Amino acid sequence: MFLRFPVLPRSLLAARVLGFPSSPMSAPAPAMATLVSNLTVAEDAAAAPALPSVTAPTTAPPAATALPSVSAPTTAPPLHLFNSKTKKKELFVPRVEGKVGMYVCGVTPYDFSHVGHARAYVAFDVLYRYLKFLGYEVNYVRNFTDIDDKIIKRANQNGETVTSLSSRFINEFLADVAELQCLPPNEEPRVTDHIEHIIELITEIIKNGHGYVVDGDVYFSVASFPEYLSLSGRKLDQNRAGSRVAVDPRKRDDPDFALWKAAKEGEPSWESPWGNGRPGWHIECSAMSAHYLGHVFDIHGGGQDLIFPHHENELAQSRAAYPESEVKCWMHNGFINIDDQKMSKSVNNFFTIRDVITLYHPLALRFFLMRTHYKSDVNHSDKALEIASNRVYYIYQTLYDCDETVSLYREENTSVPVPAEEQKLVDNHHKAFLECMSDDLRTTDVLDGFMELLKAINSNLNDLKKLQQKLEQQKKKQQQQKKQQQKQQKPQKQPEDHIQALAALSSEVKNKLSILGLMPQSSPLAEVLEQLKVKALKRAGLTEEWLREQIELRLAARNNKQFAVSDQIRKDLASKGIALMDEPTGTVWRPCERE
Ligand SMILES: [Zn+2]
Repeated sequence: MFLRFPVLPRSLLAARVLGFPSSPMSAPAPAMATLVSNLTVAEDAAAAPALPSVTAPTTAPPAATALPSVSAPTTAPPLHLFNSKTKKKELFVPRVEGKVGMYVCGVTPYDFSHVGHARAYVAFDVLYRYLKFLGYEVNYVRNFTDIDDKIIKRANQNGETVTSLSSRFINEFLADVAELQCLPPNEEPRVTDHIEHIIELITEIIKNGHGYVVDGDVYFSVASFPEYLSLSGRKLDQNRAGSRVAVDPRKRDDPDFALWKAAKEGEPSWESPWGNGRPGWHIECSAMSAHYLGHVFDIHGGGQDLIFPHHENELAQSRAAYPESEVKCWMHNGFINIDDQKMSKSVNNFFTIRDVITLYHPLALRFFLMRTHYKSDVNHSDKALEIASNRVYYIYQTLYDCDETVSLYREENTSVPVPAEEQKLVDNHHKAFLECMSDDLRTTDVLDGFMELLKAINSNLNDLKKLQQKLEQQKKKQQQQKKQQQKQQKPQKQPEDHIQALAALSSEVKNKLSILGLMPQSSPLAEVLEQLKVKALKRAGLTEEWLREQIELRLAARNNKQFAVSDQIRKDLASKGIALMDEPTGTVWRPCERE
């Protein structure tokens, strides 16, 4: 007989799951080996040539069930990405087949990184992960601008060295992006380790007649380079002396920008053919991208605000030095607005990543950022973050409930196929996922697309629960020999059908969440659900103890038939973002949208 579902209280279930080997570091149980390899085959077929490691171990349901066929192999449509230079969505064709060189401008580490940085690095992490999923060998380079006016100023204010300040905030940045589950790039160069490459590049620019030296400073001559502004599409008179370009009478032309700055008293400096000094801002990325990726590479990314002047100047420098230099696709992410206003330190509507993840789970922040297409502006608000938090809670709770049920199923090697209805859902989801992601990373549609599968999981869980109760009742009746000849009405689905459906649906969800970087990597689901609850309490300014008391008070009121009182407690909690649910084992709570 199939049925072996002991009814366990929720607390026991939670304890079971905490010890469950769902971490990607855990070796899969032998019974899961077939599952993992079959998943790999399915994905391989979808994404030749090689399958990256992101998909394998984390995607398997942690139950020793027989493998449902996960999804029909569907080839990913050709990848199209929006190129800021041509202002068109273009077919992505890497320079070398199967390989991608990608450079993304990094932070200037003089303070904690803000949500604008989170926006950019999550956006390019999604691209990095998807390229890897498609089978590309990606060389992802993201730099640190560890010498700059702002760093020097802040270090002097703090009375610490430039190196100590920048190293400290590099570590803080790395901690933040790790929380957001951004994969580390292949290379994370620091400017101060590449001064010789910067000097070589400036030398080449001067040699080709595009740079000039004035009193130990070196400038790029914009007038000497007719291609200037081909990326931003700006007009030259927009760059005349004004807010962005400081007026300097020693320059030949106002828009000329610094390649090398002569040493000033009390500032770090390096020897150069033009005297001691330090690099200008823009030259570093030209030098480091060429050093790691060559003069021609595939993707150069950053925030929209970098198009001008930073990327415009980078393009000019690289091509002025080496005319063959070329970036195949320039990609830029949109801004962050705070409550519909541009984020700015001056109007004090400025949030660091650290500020946000104190109150919201980092995966909720990641989900929130991905809910807007990378090219559009994101509107940051408490409301939007709360909605994102609830959405991820719902996703993880559904997967957790599914894991619990599937893991209780002891029967192995069942030959029952995944029911046609769910198999179709999985296949369609897989296909839609690939179509959306290959169409310039339409993450909004991708994230919304999970809902149908999650609903199907919950409906299978409910149906299975009802079916179990019914079968249990029938069994009892038979034992009592009251209706031995009772004709059993055959339900449409047997328990094993539901189990196979659940395993297939949750595999698909986990698999795709992993590709997107939204499947928890360092903690089991039960722990992440707890973390989400802790953040919700923190936002509401409540403690778990106080909440327990309220639950007790409500229970007492109900027992005394004081329903107005018990209802008021429930309402008050709902207004604070806490929902109460009465279950057979007692009242439990979960975060919810404030009522
Ligand atoms: Zn840069």
